[in-house]
Amino acid sequence: MLKTIDFGETDRILTLLTRHFGKVSVVAKGIRKPTSRLAGHAEPLTHATYQLARGRNLDVLTGAESLALYRELREDLGGIAAGWYIVELADRFAMEKAPSAPLFDLVESALRHLTAGHVPALVCRWFDLHLLDRTGFRPELGHCVQCGEGPAEEPNAWIVEAGGLVCARCAPGSTVGALALSVRALKSLRFLLVSDFESASLLRVDEALAAELDRHLRSFLQNILDREIHTSRLLDELARLPRPAAAIL
Ligand SMILES: [Zn+2]
Repeated sequence: MLKTIDFGETDRILTLLTRHFGKVSVVAKGIRKPTSRLAGHAEPLTHATYQLARGRNLDVLTGAESLALYRELREDLGGIAAGWYIVELADRFAMEKAPSAPLFDLVESALRHLTAGHVPALVCRWFDLHLLDRTGFRPELGHCVQCGEGPAEEPNAWIVEAGGLVCARCAPGSTVGALALSVRALKSLRFLLVSDFESASLLRVDEALAAELDRHLRSFLQNILDREIHTSRLLDELARLPRPAAAIL
């Protein structure tokens, strides 16, 4: 379940991410009545089995049984904000009425890792890269997108309009400042992209590297979506709260 919108007196429109039919909007009639037996199974950030009936415009939810409520995730502010971030991106990237098992499995996996208590920023950056990969927007990390050469062990540039890595020879003015791609950030991006989460969780990232990975992936995602990611702001606010130095990423 990705999101809900209240509709009419007691109804709600639910946006579901499904394995076989992509993104689906359904109407849940009477779900806002206190007696609704569907309500507990139809919250955002819930993994559930849903039964639907064909409706005139939208399909109608007739039954729901939750498989995972991700309870531990909901008890932690950083965890739930990361959960909202994941479903916001899934909602933006998912196609309607198209099989989407790879995306579905990725979302389910990311929410499970958050629930298991992994550092939210690491889960989000791993999710970002695999989301781009599975939806056909994988950034170029192996070669310069302009000259095709492998990058030297020096700061290169990250140019989202070009598709990712641009070497220092092709973009000499962009290897310092916001577009600079450090050697360790490039290596971390490559590692996260080819790793399952079990391996990715071994990556050690300090505050500066975490900020650089966040900046580069956010600009890449926003360039594709052509708009801001709302929940990034919430995550920024949370990042500004005081917390132990060891818990950055
Ligand atoms: Zn180049």
